[in-house]
Amino acid sequence: MQHTQFGAWTPHFDDLAGCIARRVVCTGKNALTPDIANRTDLSCRSQRWLPWRAGVGSTQAIPHLVSGVDPKMTYRTRTLLASAAMLCAGLNVPLAARTVATPVPTSAEEAQVLDLAQKEIDIRSVRGEGNRTPAVAALVRDRLIAGGWAPGDVVVTPRGVTATLVATWAGTDPSLKPLVLSGHMDVVEAKPADWKRDPFGPVVEQGVLYGRGATDMKFDGALLVSAVIDLRAHGYHPRRGIVIAFSGDEETVMDTSDALAHELKNADLVINADGGGGTFADGSDKPLYWLWDGNEKAYADYQLEVTNPGGHSSEPRADNAIVQLAQALVKVGAFQFPAEQNELTKLGFERAAPFEADPAKAAAMRAFAANPHDAAALAVVRAEPDLVGKTGTTCVATLLSGGHAENALPQRARANINCRIFPGHSREDIMAQLKTVIGSDVVKVTDVTDGSITPPVTPLRADYVVAAEKAIRAAWGKDIAVIPNQASGGSDSMFYRALGVPAYNASPVFTRRDERFSHGLDERVRLVNIKPGLTYYFNLIPDLTK
Ligand SMILES: [Zn+2]
Repeated sequence: MQHTQFGAWTPHFDDLAGCIARRVVCTGKNALTPDIANRTDLSCRSQRWLPWRAGVGSTQAIPHLVSGVDPKMTYRTRTLLASAAMLCAGLNVPLAARTVATPVPTSAEEAQVLDLAQKEIDIRSVRGEGNRTPAVAALVRDRLIAGGWAPGDVVVTPRGVTATLVATWAGTDPSLKPLVLSGHMDVVEAKPADWKRDPFGPVVEQGVLYGRGATDMKFDGALLVSAVIDLRAHGYHPRRGIVIAFSGDEETVMDTSDALAHELKNADLVINADGGGGTFADGSDKPLYWLWDGNEKAYADYQLEVTNPGGHSSEPRADNAIVQLAQALVKVGAFQFPAEQNELTKLGFERAAPFEADPAKAAAMRAFAANPHDAAALAVVRAEPDLVGKTGTTCVATLLSGGHAENALPQRARANINCRIFPGHSREDIMAQLKTVIGSDVVKVTDVTDGSITPPVTPLRADYVVAAEKAIRAAWGKDIAVIPNQASGGSDSMFYRALGVPAYNASPVFTRRDERFSHGLDERVRLVNIKPGLTYYFNLIPDLTK
């Protein structure tokens, strides 16, 4: 078997945003299928798209990510391999021909986003009586059909009082698993009397769209649907199929979220427009940083209960149910679960540290990222309510009851312990640890969690990371810090992750810190997001499907 080395082959690939293959080993003379002996030969030298800032060599970052994923599952890798195969076969294929020209959003396309968002906000898609979520689904369906989808490719399924929408755009290679673009059509209830403007009557004032769903997530949904329609109009043909999947009860019971995930469990990857997003510098429309969610922590409730025959309070016994429960609660309160880290939280701490105003806290974030067992750093980070959850599992007492009369020994005392479980542990594991901490058979511990799931750790997919970072920077035409985040839970994504499908919450919409009104009053979104938002999807969707 003859091996040919292409030591001098250093073309740039748009697909890998500045990554170059330094050495490709071909098997056999003019072989069409090269044997890439070492995947870490893929190396990145371009600083342009790499947010791995000071301290992390950009040449290490991508090989590490690429080598961590199955090449069969990574389109980027396969694109490189295919290109290498052509070079090995002596074919002179112009690399530029592989790149799809990225459209620039027209003003008509921008207007369509606002129009669709306003029409959606106008429909009251709230759980309970008068839920009009199916009307939102019908509106989106009609848009897609007008945009070129065959009526049979847009399926609106009534599910009880709500509905789901699944729109399929077939890829040219049916062997590839589809990309799912996820969102939800329902919104949280809003009481018009409490709002300055009608929550279900969209209003635009000075470049801001107001209404229930403006941030969560009708504007995001309109942006996503419009972008996919526009890509089709611009003549884009995805190699990998694209499925738009919108749930109808994400804000409440999530039955449709679960159903959609099961229906689409064959997906390659899920991009969820519900979650993540960027932050503008205070009082401006200048992007500061952009965040996307990878893993989510799992939710769990455990009941602690002590029962006792009780008796008259004038004749106290040694075993008082309230006292025994209190002793258990003190132990749980003092206990800290071990510090943990995964790829996502490590990167998150590294990249969020530069935005921390307090130098001591920033230093602790960096130190914790470098070594999660650094006790001093851990103490600082765990003292911060917004950071402690990213360092491991947390459990806190949230409910307490006991006794039945002022003059009686308590027959029963109960407490609820609410836990947010770090990815990689089961609810059973955490319950076993709580029992060990309590160390008493008198305290009965029961898992009383209602309707939660424990998704596994989502791997950090190199193709997604590269494409998302490229897309958000293309959207705003500048270098923007990108911070991966481990969310505390609660989006459609967890149902896909639970079935082994990687899912990332990656909305391109930026908000000002003082304008976060998701689920609250006077929810709003800045329309300056429309053009960059479309540009983001014009980059991201082809990069993940071409
Ligand atoms: Zn949402």
